[in-house]
Amino acid sequence: MQNTVSFFTLGCRVNQYESHSLAEQFKAAGWLVVPEDDIADVYIVNTCTVTHLADRKSRQYIRRMKRLNPNAKVIVMGCYSETNPAAIEKIEEVDYILGTNDKEKVFDILGIDRVPCRILGFDPESRTRAMIQIQSGCNRFCSYCVIPYARNVMWSKPIPDIVSEAKELIESGYKEIVLTGINTALYEGGVEPVIKALNEIPGDFRLRFGSLEPTVVDAEYVKTLLKYDKLCHHFHLSVQSGSDRIIKAMNRRYTAKEYLDIVKVCRDFDPLFGITTDIIVAFPGETDEDYQKSVDLIKKAEFLHVHAFPYSKRPFTKAAEYDDQLSPDVKKARNKGLILQGDESSLAFRSKMLGTAQKVLVETKSGKLWHGHADNYTDVYFESDKDDIINTFQTIEITEIYKDGVLGIAK
Ligand code: SF4
Repeated sequence: MQNTVSFFTLGCRVNQYESHSLAEQFKAAGWLVVPEDDIADVYIVNTCTVTHLADRKSRQYIRRMKRLNPNAKVIVMGCYSETNPAAIEKIEEVDYILGTNDKEKVFDILGIDRVPCRILGFDPESRTRAMIQIQSGCNRFCSYCVIPYARNVMWSKPIPDIVSEAKELIESGYKEIVLTGINTALYEGGVEPVIKALNEIPGDFRLRFGSLEPTVVDAEYVKTLLKYDKLCHHFHLSVQSGSDRIIKAMNRRYTAKEYLDIVKVCRDFDPLFGITTDIIVAFPGETDEDYQKSVDLIKKAEFLHVHAFPYSKRPFTKAAEYDDQLSPDVKKARNKGLILQGDESSLAFRSKMLGTAQKVLVETKSGKLWHGHADNYTDVYFESDKDDIINTFQTIEITEIYKDGVLGIAK
């Protein structure tokens, strides 16, 4: 009987990419990869530790799976096991613990002879968009972030490898390539040469960054990226706070003004350049005034989307030791306020799209409505008489604000 393995993956796209890569290697070695909740011989839990919720979810899953098949081997890997192996050791159902840099050891543990196989990027949610991991590791040590402790090995995929991976994905039909990494902007030698090389590949496809760190790129650098016509007019740039004092306490290396300079460069280039962001609410010591600066920055930047989340202490991090931690009530109230401001900002931005024509990559259909993303990452919904237009580019005239995006008519 064929051996079976099941993956449970939490957290970021890099984790998902790594699980996918391991799954492909298992398949090449003759194993069957079964869905998350199926009975399997081996359960691999690829953990995340960005939030407390992820820690808890990992623990719950481990226990559930061992009940499903008490003879199964449970292997836990990833950021939670790297940063807090002691907590995992306490879970008696766990058989092996691996960190973030030795995930491939899983094959040695299981006595599997590895068969060389080619691993292509992918997107678990779509057959139109594929990810390529171009970088791993972060050494920036933002004071709230555990990642540099969990992902401390810096690695950049050579450009020829990225190009050949992209070519295969494009040939196999993907229309959008998303470049990901733990901190993509730390790609050795900068990301511009990567975009330059990919932009030269012929074909009707587009390129997008999963995110870019303003701790690494500034307005001048971003300007150098804008000339590449296949690069989407969208950046995810985590600002984290609008207050310079808090940005500094976060050990991040820019000011609110420098951040807004990046936004300006993008919007001077294209007034509908989509910018999405993350903001931490109620960081230790955040005053009403600091909070108001985050609100003001959201107004100024007119983000397409704001992901606001309350500060939570992470192990090893400096900010966890700061004594001016804020109460859950303050966190809750401020988070609500920022979400509202984020929604308003998004509405203001999307209103500017009314009457414009957008090139949309069609991804799904639900009822009568097709759905896809514009170049600037706005969700676009539209009706069309055409059949089977998934994974094609369509020009849509935007007529209304709709849900989290806009509604339009196919031209
Ligand atoms: S740049 Fe900062 S927030 Fe981003 S992964 Fe590195 S340490 Fe964490």
